[in-house]
Amino acid sequence: MAILVLGGAGYIGSHTVDRLVDRGVDVVVVDSLVTGHRAAVNSKAKFYQGDIADQPFMRDVFKENPAIDAVIHFAAFSLVAESMKKPLKYFDNNTSGMIKLLEVMNEVGVKKIVFSSTAATYGIPEQVPIKESDPQQPINPYGESKLMMEKIMRWSDQAYGIKFIALRYFNVAGAKPDGSIGEDHNPETHLLPIVLQVAAGTREKLQIFGDDYDTPDGTNVRDYVHPFDLADAHILAVDYLRQGHDSTAFNLGSSTGFSNMEILKAAREVTGKPIPTELAPRRPGDPDTLIAASDKARKVLGWKPQFDDIHKIIETAWKWHATHPNGYQDR
Ligand code: UDP
Repeated sequence: MAILVLGGAGYIGSHTVDRLVDRGVDVVVVDSLVTGHRAAVNSKAKFYQGDIADQPFMRDVFKENPAIDAVIHFAAFSLVAESMKKPLKYFDNNTSGMIKLLEVMNEVGVKKIVFSSTAATYGIPEQVPIKESDPQQPINPYGESKLMMEKIMRWSDQAYGIKFIALRYFNVAGAKPDGSIGEDHNPETHLLPIVLQVAAGTREKLQIFGDDYDTPDGTNVRDYVHPFDLADAHILAVDYLRQGHDSTAFNLGSSTGFSNMEILKAAREVTGKPIPTELAPRRPGDPDTLIAASDKARKVLGWKPQFDDIHKIIETAWKWHATHPNGYQDR
């Protein structure tokens, strides 16, 4: 048995590949390297560069690796602000990429898939913490593209028997604790890497996007989870499907919220650096608070996140950023 990881050179994908290899699993990786990094992929995984929407290419990958019985799919664009400006890019890459992938999976008879969904499918939550059964009403094209992927999966399960687990991530932060792989986006838009780039001296200051939200200190509250804990949830989800269970969705978060100011304070403590900031306007599409109810993943999958302390998470990210201020260019 082998697992095909799509988008295995990206931030969460590369941590999952590393974790799978560490457990002795046979891993095949496909990544277009449009946003991913070849150097992020564990050298024990078999690597193919290509696009998941390229069906002849994907047929060859499955043909050359008949042991593949399950797919973990991370290959998608994931920036809310970009999706507001370029929605068709998101529907094309994320949603139609999924359709092309499912056609090939159905053809070759691989009928298990675990894929990245997102808290952005919920839109403005009616209650916090957010449960899997809460209404999904996305307020940006990124969330919409992922909700469409979930819906396409439901019908593909019914028609072709392709079983799926949709993992709805909240905010992801941290790096492999030895600092050898980490987060490297270009351009970087996420809070913690930007905070740590300021700490490392490669960026001048942090802009705080809004301090008048309906939260205790006025800045947005988010729920942070480490990529190794996400990786473990994907591995448990593949096992769950291999055991013959039905398709379903799980939230993945720590179930604890931190405001942007609290993240900044913790990062100052971990790094010992001042990290200058300035107040900037709100960023369109940011809900006040996003916190996951993640008891379903804990109960049903037996998921136990190891990185349950924000200082620990920031320490791992700092180890990566302090040693790779220019990301994978420094490897
Ligand atoms: N944020 C910020 N300054 C930045 C980047 C992000 O204040 O330079 C805020 C952003 O408005 C949100 C939180 O940090 O409230 C987390 O944003 P991020 O882009 O990391 O993740 P998202 O919540 O969009 O998935």
